[in-house]
Amino acid sequence: YFISFEGIEGCGKTTQIKLAARFLRKWRLPVMTTEEPGGSPLGKRIRKLLLKRGPFDICDEAETLLFLAARAQHIREVIRPALVRGNWILCDRFSDATMVYQGLVRGIDATWIRTLDEFATSSLKPHLTFLFDLPAETGIRRALQRMSGVPEKAREDRFEQEGLIFHEKIRKGYLSLARQEPDRFRVIDATGDVASISLEVCRHLKAFLSA
Ligand code: C5P
Ligand code: MG
Repeated sequence: YFISFEGIEGCGKTTQIKLAARFLRKWRLPVMTTEEPGGSPLGKRIRKLLLKRGPFDICDEAETLLFLAARAQHIREVIRPALVRGNWILCDRFSDATMVYQGLVRGIDATWIRTLDEFATSSLKPHLTFLFDLPAETGIRRALQRMSGVPEKAREDRFEQEGLIFHEKIRKGYLSLARQEPDRFRVIDATGDVASISLEVCRHLKAFLSA
């Protein structure tokens, strides 16, 4: 099965992926964790291009295509082969991120994104998507905490420097995607502590396993 983890900055998805993987491994299931952008050697190069600021501009259309190029490679090189081997794949961000970040926030037409994303993924969709929901303010506070101590120049991610309005828009976008596909999405309240959020994720995984 292919499961994606989504949410705004500081929602804790990366921590939760690790805990979910541990949970599934306890059931002796073969699990692989991966991330976007990244996840393949090409994807890692593209991630650097996308997240670092300058010395050149990236227009919104190019940004979209770069995320999708990383995804195309990720699917063919990593995700599909792992699915064929019978692995569970837990992926940090996937198509929904493109819908909200490049679609809603950058204003790229949603129909274009759907079409291009289908091309990039050859129509592969996650079987299940966890959305870690929390107010943008809380997320930003957590992200800032995580970044404190990291020198300005070493901060990898230009998107993390965006303001409250940007992240609140992303949050709303994610929630509206979840409403459109209630069967695929599990919306998790991410304001609580790590352990109780993980408990809820595992509860959903268990239900999914026995369905
Ligand atoms: O999940 P992670 O924080 O590693 O993602 C890296 C950055 O890329 C995030 O700041 C996210 O906002 C941004 N991103 C994006 N569009 C995507 C996927 C990620 O702007 N489609
Ligand atoms: Mg981040």
